[in-house]
Amino acid sequence: MTTSHYIAGRWVEGQGSDCISVNDPALGQPFAELMAASVGQVDQAVTAARGALHAWKSTSASERAAYLRGFAEQLGQRREALITLQMRNNGKPRHEAEIDLDDAIATFGYYAELAEQLPSKNRDVPLAAPGFSARTRLEPVGVVGLIVPWNFPLVTSAWKLAPALAAGCTVVLKPSEVTPLIEQAYGQIADALGLPAGVLNIINGKAETGAALSNHNGLDKLSFTGSNSVGSQVMRSASAQCRPVTLELGGKSAIVVFDDCDVGQAVEWIVAGITWNAGQMCSATSRLLVQDGIAEALLPRLQEALENLRVGNPLTEEVDMGPLTSQAQWLKVAGYFATAREEGLQCLAGGKALDRDGWFVSPTLYADVPKDSRLWTEEIFGPVLCARRFATEEQAIAEANDSRFGLVATVCSADLDRAERVADALEVGHVWINSVQAVFIETSWGGTKGSGIGRELGPWGLSAYQSVKHVTRCLG
Ligand code: NAD
Repeated sequence: MTTSHYIAGRWVEGQGSDCISVNDPALGQPFAELMAASVGQVDQAVTAARGALHAWKSTSASERAAYLRGFAEQLGQRREALITLQMRNNGKPRHEAEIDLDDAIATFGYYAELAEQLPSKNRDVPLAAPGFSARTRLEPVGVVGLIVPWNFPLVTSAWKLAPALAAGCTVVLKPSEVTPLIEQAYGQIADALGLPAGVLNIINGKAETGAALSNHNGLDKLSFTGSNSVGSQVMRSASAQCRPVTLELGGKSAIVVFDDCDVGQAVEWIVAGITWNAGQMCSATSRLLVQDGIAEALLPRLQEALENLRVGNPLTEEVDMGPLTSQAQWLKVAGYFATAREEGLQCLAGGKALDRDGWFVSPTLYADVPKDSRLWTEEIFGPVLCARRFATEEQAIAEANDSRFGLVATVCSADLDRAERVADALEVGHVWINSVQAVFIETSWGGTKGSGIGRELGPWGLSAYQSVKHVTRCLG
């Protein structure tokens, strides 16, 4: 790959010093490499976005909606290539790669519809005071930087790109260096659709490239999804420039299972919540709180279900779970296995890397994990589930809320009044009742506490790229 950056409507070679290896995690081998963008190229991308802003924000909402529908359609036309690339570079099982693609397509379609509704949101505001009229105008925030991680590349970028373009913003997108090829599709689609040059720019690179973008004084806003440690650096850059930032960060989410649940059904939800995408989900429900009355029946069934999962190379085998996406992530998860051994945790399943090439680990379950264990409190970002028991509803709520994160939670109970009551008491951005990881475009995405600032998806996702202006006129 030589021309891997899309700046001002042209594909250009990277002039940075970093060489990025693109790996197949199932083999632990690189299959492509590219040169990162230089700091100067980051500047060119921001300048291009600035240059394109006036014309793009002056387009009609229906014109922008037509481009967004074009993105949805063109993603569909690249279906097989994008599914295969996610399987190869992320290690996703086919059905997961398909769902990601469908989610990205639906996101562009959804924001096309919201874009078309925009003119009706610009309206008169009734005033109690006589002698004045006022009207609202929702304007684009301006030039936005979008920095994303590697775990759901198509989706995370779609959740930012589609509302930003719908609002009339121009963008500079920086994909993760772990999965730099997947979002190139968005540049190819921009080309195919004849999107005006500079409206969408894509620069690839590692931390240096991300920092050059988040520190750039030509941005009006930065929207970041990733780890808490980088998120706080991004927030520092935003504070230095006094400009808005959206942060979608990590999680350590609870799944609360009451003793009136069907054991088999609960096991399915628990397994899906920790092994989808090999547990590399900000929203992984990695803390299992199980009520005393069901624990003895549930834990052996859960152990069996995790041990029976088919783990392997999604490109060559029928699998339920693929490898971890990067060697760094594999080493990190292996480090937690070592910590668990040092802490003397009771391991009911897994707890080790697989003895084969590639970055595989076994789906893992630790039982009766102490509240102060690092495995209970820290985001691991792998298929590692920690369980604790509880006696009462109050205890379950207190333990679930006892976390510096607040992204999501799942509540499983046949008593729907109780489930709704617990959902209301949980300090998180999204609660699923008797379901798991059910993300809909119309509902919001984002967390409380250390899980971030702001919301994506739904109308909130669009508002994140809009600025409210009022025009007040004296009638006298
Ligand atoms: P990361 O923070 O290491 O990297 C994210 C992005 O930031 C990458 O593009 C990276 O190149 C860039 N970056 C690195 N250093 C930078 C710097 N100094 N300045 C600016 N940009 C920089 O995260 P990751 O390992 O790619 O992703 C995993 C993390 O993302 C997990 O913590 C996970 O919970 C989180 N995540 C959150 C959500 C959410 O919606 N809340 C979704 C997906 C992932």
